[in-house]
Amino acid sequence: MLYYFTACDKNARKHYEDTVAKPYLIAPLLEKIDPAVQNELMTQGLDQHVHMWGAVPGPSNKKRWSNLKVGDGVLVYVKEGFRSYAKVVVKTINREVAEYIWGTDNEDRTWEYIYFLKEVKSVNFSKEMFSSFFGYKTNFIPQGFSNIEETKFQIRMKKYPNVDALVNDLNNNFLMSDEDLEDGDYQNSLETDFRKVEDKPEVPKKKKKQRILNGVKVWDRDPKVAQRAIKKALFQCEFDINHSTFISSVSKENYVEAHHLIPMKFQNDFENVSLDTESNILALCPNCHRMIHHSRPKEKKLLLKEFYEKRKDQLHNLGIEFSLVNLNNFYGMK
Ligand SMILES: [Zn+2]
Ligand SMILES: [Zn+2]
Repeated sequence: MLYYFTACDKNARKHYEDTVAKPYLIAPLLEKIDPAVQNELMTQGLDQHVHMWGAVPGPSNKKRWSNLKVGDGVLVYVKEGFRSYAKVVVKTINREVAEYIWGTDNEDRTWEYIYFLKEVKSVNFSKEMFSSFFGYKTNFIPQGFSNIEETKFQIRMKKYPNVDALVNDLNNNFLMSDEDLEDGDYQNSLETDFRKVEDKPEVPKKKKKQRILNGVKVWDRDPKVAQRAIKKALFQCEFDINHSTFISSVSKENYVEAHHLIPMKFQNDFENVSLDTESNILALCPNCHRMIHHSRPKEKKLLLKEFYEKRKDQLHNLGIEFSLVNLNNFYGMK
């Protein structure tokens, strides 16, 4: 089954940052946990750092928590969209531990229906995308702790071998629309007389605003930034400079396209710095550009490794920290 919970108000967001987005050091609290549960955590190698969440007592929460099974998937909805996906490993009821970690709400309740999570992954899709995928009404707003309606879930699951595959597809459908945006007007807007494009030094920029395009929230991209990146790459494909294409009628240069190495949809993973920056933009021949979006994992990983090595230091200097594993995750791969 697939569940979701929301972390939208200030406190919930902080809890989400503290114990889902980042691992939480559980070791000092282990002795307060039921020995059988302790054992399960140890077997899973979760006796030091864990990812965890909890629900406050109440009839509906209690029922959902009771139904929650090991291996079930959980999506986390944070303000504008779904941001994390994880699997349930162990669960327990423990007021003392919950209160210690998260405190209490204004009715003196705490999130004591605890569940521990593993394989926490970044995802990024809007509630609109979620609604159209499962067949909810378009004005659907995720609230509290719940599961996808049983029949809606079963209809969707017919296509997939497991919940991971379903979530991966849901997440990548959004990537497709992200890509469509990148390949349409955006690519056209980069065609220019490059003699007029200034060679400005790259400085870290603050993250930009989102705007709504075709019902989907997108991060703004500045064509000038991509134009500078393309000029810097000397109009050559950055995977292989021998990939010549044709001379563009507008720029009179070898035609290349711009691709954001860390896709813009992961902007929320980088709070303080914009991903729409020269070092995060690759000049690619149209063939390599399609490849990075559509090829099999084996080939995609090859491209990503190459670009990771090429750009990691420049991006690091701008304050954009990520590993090759993160990068593979951004493209929906382990
Ligand atoms: Zn692209
Ligand atoms: Zn190429």
